[in-house]
Amino acid sequence: MAEFVIKPRIRGFICTTSHPDGCAANVKEQLQIAWAARNTKPDTYRVLVIGSSTGYGLASRIAAASLYDADTIGVFYERVGEGKKSGTPGYYNTAAFHAYAKNKGLTSININGDAFSHEVKQQTIDQIKAHMEQVDLVIYSLASPRRIDPDTGEEYRSDIRSIGDVYVGKTIDLNKEFITEVSVEPATEEGIRETVAVMGGDDLNLWTDALLNAGVLAEGARVVPFSYIGPEVTYPIYRNGTIGRAKEHLEATTAAIHLRLQSKIEGAAYISVNKAVITQASAAIPVVPLYISLLYKIMKESNVHEAPINQMVRLLTDHIGPGQTPALDEKGRIRLDDREMVNAIQNEIDRLWPTVNTDNFRSLSDYDAYKKGFRQLFGFEVDGIDYDKPVELETEV
Ligand code: NAD
Repeated sequence: MAEFVIKPRIRGFICTTSHPDGCAANVKEQLQIAWAARNTKPDTYRVLVIGSSTGYGLASRIAAASLYDADTIGVFYERVGEGKKSGTPGYYNTAAFHAYAKNKGLTSININGDAFSHEVKQQTIDQIKAHMEQVDLVIYSLASPRRIDPDTGEEYRSDIRSIGDVYVGKTIDLNKEFITEVSVEPATEEGIRETVAVMGGDDLNLWTDALLNAGVLAEGARVVPFSYIGPEVTYPIYRNGTIGRAKEHLEATTAAIHLRLQSKIEGAAYISVNKAVITQASAAIPVVPLYISLLYKIMKESNVHEAPINQMVRLLTDHIGPGQTPALDEKGRIRLDDREMVNAIQNEIDRLWPTVNTDNFRSLSDYDAYKKGFRQLFGFEVDGIDYDKPVELETEV
C-alpha cells in the first residue's frame, strides 16, 4: 500500500486518471441532496441498479438509499486502482456509496463485471436470493460502446452516426477549445445493426427474463430503462441517428416487457426520458457537449437546472418510488426531460445556436461549467479537496 499525488490526464472526452477523494466528495454531495428530499419511508425497498457506478445509475442508487433507506445491489464495469495507477471513477464512487450504506446498516452488494454476460446476470440473481430475496425496482442505466453477445460471442460496436445523409454540425473541440464543424459520414446498415445490438433492448430483455424466471422480481416490481430525445439541433446525430434507432428499439422492448410483467407479477416497465447532463457517455457524442453547455446556462438562469441526482430524486418521489403512480406521456413514457424541452428553453437554444462561434461560446454558454463538470466526474476540481496530498489508490469495495 502506498499513496500518490494524482492529477487529471485529459484528452478530449477521455480522462485516464481519477481522484478517490474527489469522487467520494461527489457521492457525499449527492447523498445530501437526496437526503434533503426525504419524506416517507417504506418498510423495505430493494433496488437493483444495472450500470450503478456513474451518471444516472449512480444517482438512482444514491437517491433510493438516501430517500428510502433502500437495500441496493449495483452492477458496473470499472477498473480497480493498482499501485500508482488510479482506478476508474465509478470504482471510487461505489466505494464511497458502499461506506455510506454500511454505516447506515443498509444492504449494499456490488458486482464488478460485464452486465451483458450470462455469468454476471446469474451472479446478480444469486446475490439477490442470498441477501434480499427479491427486488422491487430495477433501474437499467448501461451506457457502453460495445457488447459481446452472450449466446453467439459476436462483438457489437456502437457507431454514433446519422442515418441517410452526411451530418454536418457545430461542435466544441474539447482539446483545442474552439467551435468547429464536424462532418460525419452516415452509418452503414451494419453500423445501425450493431449500435442497436449494443444500446437497444436485447440485453434488457435478457435481464428481465433471467430475473423473472429466477423469481427474484417482487410482486408489483418495476423495471425502468433510460432514454433521451433532445432538441432538434441534435436530431440528425442523436434521435434520427443510430443511437436514436437503438433508443427506439429499447422503448419498443420496454413496452413488450411491460405487458409481460403485468401479466406475470402485476409489475410494470416504463421508459424514463431523462434530461441531457454531463456524463462520460454524453461527452462522447458530437454536438452534445456544446448543446449541454448552452442548455445549462439557460436552465440555470431560469432556475430549473437539474443534475442527475435531482432527476433521480424526481423519478423516485414523483413517479416510481414506493406508492407512486407515474405520470406518462402519450407513448407511455416518464418525461424527466419536461423542463429541458419546454418552449421557452428550446426557443432560446434555437436563437443562440446559429450565432455561437469560437469568439463568443464562453459567454453565450456555460462551457466553463461544462469543463469543470466533466473534470468533476473524475473527482478533480471538487471543492475542499487537497490535490497536492498523496492518496491511496487501491481502495476496496
Ligand atoms: P455513464 O457512462 O455515466 O454510466 C454508464 C454505466 O454503465 C456505468 O456504471 C458503467 O460502469 C456501466 N457499464 C458500462 N458497460 C458495462 C458493462 N458491460 N457491464 C456492466 N456495467 C457497464 O452513462 P449515463 O450518461 O449515466 O447513461 C446511462 C443511461 O442514461 C443511458 O441509457 C443513457 O442513454 C441514458 N441517458 C443519458 C443522458 C445524458 O445526458 N447523459 C440523458 C438521457 C438518458
